[in-house]
Amino acid sequence: MDQISKQILFSRDEIQKRVREIASQISKDYAGRELVVIGILKGAFIFMADLVRELSVPCKVDFVRVASYGAGSESSGKVVMTKDIETSIKGRDILIVEDIVDSGLTLQYLVNWLKERNPHSLKICVFLDKRKRRKVSFEADYAGFTIDDGFVVGYGLDFDEQFRFFPDVYIIEQ
Ligand code: 5GP
Repeated sequence: MDQISKQILFSRDEIQKRVREIASQISKDYAGRELVVIGILKGAFIFMADLVRELSVPCKVDFVRVASYGAGSESSGKVVMTKDIETSIKGRDILIVEDIVDSGLTLQYLVNWLKERNPHSLKICVFLDKRKRRKVSFEADYAGFTIDDGFVVGYGLDFDEQFRFFPDVYIIEQ
């Protein structure tokens, strides 16, 4: 982080409070049901770990790995799946958990991919929503925080594989 200036955007306390609120809403919405929570690696791993531990409904977990960004901060615009789920989702209630939605291309691709396996329902939960940067029309069912432009790191989010481990979220300038 030496040559990169950073500014805190969300503290760990703000994040914890918001994660609890979302988990409580999800628990109400899925009362009496069992969820399959699918996290998108790598960025969602911390958010998902915190979220599932706050749920009061049972869930199974699985992961996919899709890449839409190369090294650096600009989207390549091309989405590639590098790891598929290992659980059958036919007839199940699915919650996709993503770190951040930007253009919407990653989630659009993944939603189409998973819908082909005939889940009973499919909803999306994102930690951060960059609403103004959409290239495709896309609405998350649950969102932690809406942010404007800028590149964020921490709480699972990286810059060139760095800074995922920061407990708080920062906006960076190079
Ligand atoms: P989309 O396909 O919606 O354009 O991009 C989603 C992916 O882009 C996210 O999963 C994330 O990996 C990456 N991304 C978008 N904005 C940011 C950002 O501000 N910081 C980081 N670390 N990744 C971002």
